[in-house]
Amino acid sequence: TIGMIALDSNGNLSGACTTSGMAYKMHGRVGDSPIIGAGLYVDNEIGAATATGHGEEVIRIAGCHLVVELMRQGKSPQKACEEAVNRIIKLTKYRNKNLNDIQVGFIALNKKGEHGAYCIQKGFNYAKYDETGNNLLDANYFLK
Ligand code: ASP
Repeated sequence: TIGMIALDSNGNLSGACTTSGMAYKMHGRVGDSPIIGAGLYVDNEIGAATATGHGEEVIRIAGCHLVVELMRQGKSPQKACEEAVNRIIKLTKYRNKNLNDIQVGFIALNKKGEHGAYCIQKGFNYAKYDETGNNLLDANYFLK
């Protein structure tokens, strides 16, 4: 998944994501990316979040909606992403699944422009651009 979340110079939030889905997926599988609240969620009053990784895990907790709701409750984008990942980890244990078989990451941005990210395994990173979209501010935010 490629997920993008943005805060424009008028203070409006937006987001988009695109995916090819999972390798060897079942015919007709619907991942998290096209489901609002799972792979992407934007509330212009609060913040925006997008996810990557195993969509089934993200759908199970309505992941990006959860991240935005946690920000609504006052959590930073970083803490909100961590809590969403921790819920997936907890559910994985209940389901007797091996955590090493699961990868999910979230990125989040709030109305103040603060951002954060977290994932289960190492391997994702994200970049931050300025308000023109042309200048890369930092490309090495490794998730973990
Ligand atoms: N989240 C996507 C899916 O489950 C996979 C990806 O990260 O591209 O369909």
